[in-house]
Amino acid sequence: MATYAPNPQAVARVPRALAFRYDALPLDLADGVLAVALSDPHDDAVVDALRAATRLRVRTLPMARETIRDLLHIAYAAEPAANATTERDNDAPAVRAVDRVLAAAIGAHASDVHVEPAAGGGRVRLRVDGVLREHETIAAALYPAFVSRLKLMAGMDIADRRQPQDGRCAIPFEQREIDARVASVPTVDGEKLVVRLLDRYAASPDLAALGMPTALLARYRAAVRAPWGFVVVSGPTGSGKTTTLYASLAELDADARNLCSVEDPVEMRLRGVTQVQVNPRAGLTFPLVLRAFMRQDPNVVMVGEMRDGETAAVALSAALAGQFVFATLHANDAPRTIDRLVELGVARHALAAALTAIVAQRLVRTLCERCRIHAPIPPPLRARLALAAETWYVAAGCRACAETGYLGRTGVYELLDVDEATRDAVATGASSVHVAQLAARAGYAPMRDDALAKVLAGTTSFDELSRVVAWHGAR
Ligand SMILES: [Zn+2]
Repeated sequence: MATYAPNPQAVARVPRALAFRYDALPLDLADGVLAVALSDPHDDAVVDALRAATRLRVRTLPMARETIRDLLHIAYAAEPAANATTERDNDAPAVRAVDRVLAAAIGAHASDVHVEPAAGGGRVRLRVDGVLREHETIAAALYPAFVSRLKLMAGMDIADRRQPQDGRCAIPFEQREIDARVASVPTVDGEKLVVRLLDRYAASPDLAALGMPTALLARYRAAVRAPWGFVVVSGPTGSGKTTTLYASLAELDADARNLCSVEDPVEMRLRGVTQVQVNPRAGLTFPLVLRAFMRQDPNVVMVGEMRDGETAAVALSAALAGQFVFATLHANDAPRTIDRLVELGVARHALAAALTAIVAQRLVRTLCERCRIHAPIPPPLRARLALAAETWYVAAGCRACAETGYLGRTGVYELLDVDEATRDAVATGASSVHVAQLAARAGYAPMRDDALAKVLAGTTSFDELSRVVAWHGAR
């Protein structure tokens, strides 16, 4: 069943009382014909009543009664006054509430907006700097219309509340458009929506500003600037992998080289880079796009994510064929990235031959410099981490940081350069522990070293790191 956005001109012609009495939703008005949605489009009594009240010819379409009722509330909330025709569609409370929430989210640089049913109505939370925070509560009476409005904007079927759905739309904001991807999940309490906001035209990231330690950055740049290679960036969702790859591509000469990228989704537009967004429904998969790139004489190929064996195999063969390949992967750390690729079905000898460097990373919030405070390091932690320092910084909270104690984010990193020794170990199936030991000779240090250095420098706090970095190795 299709969904429609009622045309305010059509709504203005049908009296509110009549529309609600018959569950008749005015949809459109063209050439003197009023299109109306009814749960029973062949109900002649209703059609006659509409014709008499509007003096228009009436055409009917079928729509679920539930949907009609939702849309009626949205449509008629816009015109309580007598001069209804001058009222605009976006005056409806739900429309205003959605616009307000999205504008606040974009203004706060939120990456996601979570909308979920809660006891007192609808709960709205924003994810800012990687952490969810309460934003506002939507009145219970408005919640269904609020959800419907978001789903309508994203082109989703508002009549279907039982199946997970996804949609997308562009939100105009300060002379540009923010791309929004909306996903719904039917919960026992009602529908929950998550809106992911992508500012594709934000400034491209700078490798030097991502928070890589100086020595690691120099080693990484050397790997990126090699004529060929296979660089994998790993970490969980939301760890900044794509940003690292974007910053890596931005370092390369886009004019002299053919740079191609396949992503899901394209999070940011990059100058001089051919970017393709996968669309599995249309058959546009990672392997298909990669094979198409291979026929277009690429120099550098970026694979947004290797989530299956076929994609990993095609990426690997591109690297073996002499292209420079950048890819991301879900893995906990650099040594275990190798295990993960082998689990995906990649041949060890091919992997050993192609792989040049692995970065593993997390994002942590940085302490607000205006309000961070010195505090003694608890003695047990000081002993466990073998620290010489006696104090470090902890979060406090001020107006500048919305009382959170944190402002902005930075990455924590580890980099494993694949040299001859590690190459042999990868080929022969050595354990990730052994690979890590070999790589340490070439400068590899686990992520927690960088993490701890950032705590001692006051960049972030130990509490914040504990949220994202495992410390078992330090115990
Ligand atoms: Zn502060």
